Amino acid sequence: MMKHKLFYFFDYDQKRNGLILVALMFVASLLELVSLGLILPIAGLFLETPNIQNNIFIKNFSYLFDIPHGNLILYLLLFFLIFYIIKILFLVFVNWSEQKFLTSFAEKTSSKFFLNYISQSFSFFAKRNSAEFLRNLTTEIQQFSAYLNSFSKLLLESLITIVLFIFLIFLSPITTISLFIIFFIFSIIYLKLFTGKLRDWGEQRQENTKKRIQFMQEGFGSVKDIKLLGREKFFFDKFKFHNINLAEVLFKIGFVNRLPRLITELFFAFVIIFVFLVLYKSESNIGEIITLMTIYVIAAFKIIPSSNRIIASIQTLKFNSPAINTLYFEAKNFKILNDIKKQNFAFNENIIINVENFRYSKDSKFDLKNIKFEIKKGEKIGIIGPSGSGKSTLIDILSGILKPEKGDIKVDKKTIYSNLRGWQNLIGYIPQKIFILDDSLRNNIIFGFDKNKIDEKILSKLLNKINLSQLLERLPKGLDNKLGEKGLNISAGEIQRIGIARALIYNPTILFLDEATSSLDTFTERQILKELNQFEDKTFISVAHRINTLKNCDKIYRLDKGTIIDSGNFEKFNNF
Ligand code: ADP
Ligand code: MG
Repeated sequence: MMKHKLFYFFDYDQKRNGLILVALMFVASLLELVSLGLILPIAGLFLETPNIQNNIFIKNFSYLFDIPHGNLILYLLLFFLIFYIIKILFLVFVNWSEQKFLTSFAEKTSSKFFLNYISQSFSFFAKRNSAEFLRNLTTEIQQFSAYLNSFSKLLLESLITIVLFIFLIFLSPITTISLFIIFFIFSIIYLKLFTGKLRDWGEQRQENTKKRIQFMQEGFGSVKDIKLLGREKFFFDKFKFHNINLAEVLFKIGFVNRLPRLITELFFAFVIIFVFLVLYKSESNIGEIITLMTIYVIAAFKIIPSSNRIIASIQTLKFNSPAINTLYFEAKNFKILNDIKKQNFAFNENIIINVENFRYSKDSKFDLKNIKFEIKKGEKIGIIGPSGSGKSTLIDILSGILKPEKGDIKVDKKTIYSNLRGWQNLIGYIPQKIFILDDSLRNNIIFGFDKNKIDEKILSKLLNKINLSQLLERLPKGLDNKLGEKGLNISAGEIQRIGIARALIYNPTILFLDEATSSLDTFTERQILKELNQFEDKTFISVAHRINTLKNCDKIYRLDKGTIIDSGNFEKFNNF
């Protein structure tokens, strides 16, 4: 189950690199075995064990290198040293490949996730809290990396342990097998005690991490209101609650993570004492005993850390598995990315709107229904209605951000859903609240649009037309001056004008204004509306709740409870 989820995240190259890594690890564990095996003849020679000269390795070694008998041990030690250096160099290389693999995996996966998130349809974001996306992109991907790290550790250490196990079986089958069985049972019991809890802890970690991010975002996002109302403590307490819970979980997992080392060490202390006892009672000769003991002690030096890491890795796998689950289901739910290629879409005649029915979700109380009207090219259309009547929803449907259950939007008789990107390229959208990037004035206007397509002359002309030249003169570095976080040092009217420049810079055919001037004072509003009048060749669709905002409209529709209840020109509504 977990494995197929894991493979889901790897592309062909990553699978191949993963396989190469496993092969490298296998070689590493073989080298480990050989370096351990070399100790046997050396110890044997040292202790002058009878028949040592007949040892296959020693015989071949002295024959191959033509070594005189007296110097054999020196040559063996030298050989051992060289071999050890090669082994360590190889392990350094394996370590390099492993880290490379893991970090590039994390980098690629988070890029893929970010691209996917940002490319999802608007309704995807409407349903969920962005704290979850931030968490998934940061901590969950880290947890995934840690999972893979543990997975590869588990693999490497298991290989080493198996190889050592086989080696020890040849030396002393009964003791080895019985010890391994005891250790195996002991590990199973230990893991059984904790693994169920580890998953729960993993899920608690996820939840609290998300909440912590959410309350940080909410706190920083509404800092003005918090200051004014003096509600710092309320937001702090919310953060603190999840912060404490998170610390609690991390404490437990941190504690349990260190346990395997201590417990395996204790276990092997028992083992060594036990082996000593057995050997002491048996009547082997002292040379054999010491050779065997050397092996055991060294095996223990290898096996203690290996078994410690095996158990700790299994723990980490359990603790981090909720992260894999989350990312897996998230990745599966991503809708296929829109084709972002530039495509042309024609708008020369009219837009025919026919929204029979739209709903945010099945249990949503609000629905938009029976909205039918036509917009001719170049017309100025106004939409008025009380708050919550569905004005913004209608705009989002017209721009293709939301899609009605039943109905269609046809432009020059062609449905916009046949080429949404092309349709949206014709639209300039000016919302009520302009999001200011912590970047230069220029980049706030360009907003990621292709820089090469921006003509400096057109830009400065545009700034003149919408009265941004005053702001420009005030900024010491002009267009390249930073605007500061949330545009704190510029006025509301200027922020709104930046939004207008952002929409107009790519010369759209249609402009959507969703309460674009509603939060401004009437004087500034009138000024901005006058500025917008200069773009008379464009089709305007303006949403407002004040009728005066819609003075220049050719036709006005009144919306209430999700449907059109009246229509007419400005005079009709103004005399109402
Ligand atoms: P208006 O712009 O006229 O003030 P909206 O179109 O924003 O109204 O909202 C119309 C209705 O749709 C409201 O009842 C609002 O609660 C609901 N609504 C708006 N956005 C969402 C959403 N993302 N999910 C569910 N309901 C929503
Ligand atoms: Mg609205």
